[in-house]
Amino acid sequence: MTGARLRRLGLIGGMSWESTAHYYRLINGHVRAARGPAASADLLLHSLDFAPIAQAQREGRWDELAATLAGSARLLAGGGAEALVLCTNTMHRLADAIAAATPVPLLHIADPTGAAIVAAGHARVALLGTAFTMEQDFYTGRLRARHGLEVIVPEAEDRALVHRVIYEELVAGIVAPASREAYRAVIARLVDRGAQSIILGCTEIMLLVDHSDSAVPLFDTTALHARAAADFALGTG
Ligand code: GLU
Repeated sequence: MTGARLRRLGLIGGMSWESTAHYYRLINGHVRAARGPAASADLLLHSLDFAPIAQAQREGRWDELAATLAGSARLLAGGGAEALVLCTNTMHRLADAIAAATPVPLLHIADPTGAAIVAAGHARVALLGTAFTMEQDFYTGRLRARHGLEVIVPEAEDRALVHRVIYEELVAGIVAPASREAYRAVIARLVDRGAQSIILGCTEIMLLVDHSDSAVPLFDTTALHARAAADFALGTG
């Protein structure tokens, strides 16, 4: 099977590499399904060292991080990337700075997520992610403003737990049954508060929970973002 030239993707990854590896597999899987067994994505990956990035996040050095990721965007644009894919929800806090660094479009992770939720007919959705993603406005605000969604987040104690498991376990590739149970309980409390679905708004959460852990549908941002990236590459997005 053949088709038009695949558009080149530029992935900004390593945040963490555990989820970036899934992006690579998912994007290539979509391209293979669309174009045939030997087909694979034309992509560049700039995979960053997450340790200093996580430390800068903790210390609130966002301007420094914006400069780092803008540099990454320029590197990928210079290599011929035709769209940028930032493989983390949290760092979309810096989406404007990254997008402004080059003329290459940034495929924002919240948009395929919001579109999928709207297509499912849900209006009130709960968001799981890092504290940055749950507590700051860059993500929930976009889902509200661009997709008309009502977004709720866990209560403070649950937010702290969700955040801790991401940074202490999931980015290190640790998948602990006790943490899965804890996430199940957090999800159940969100469903009790009227959530019609749950956004896995951190690209590693799908390592820990799946549909069997929730009474309502889950929207996995890693899968949705990878699908959007593949659609762009294939010209079907
Ligand atoms: N991958 C995570 C996310 O989607 C968290 C790591 C990070 O801070 O980038 O938010």
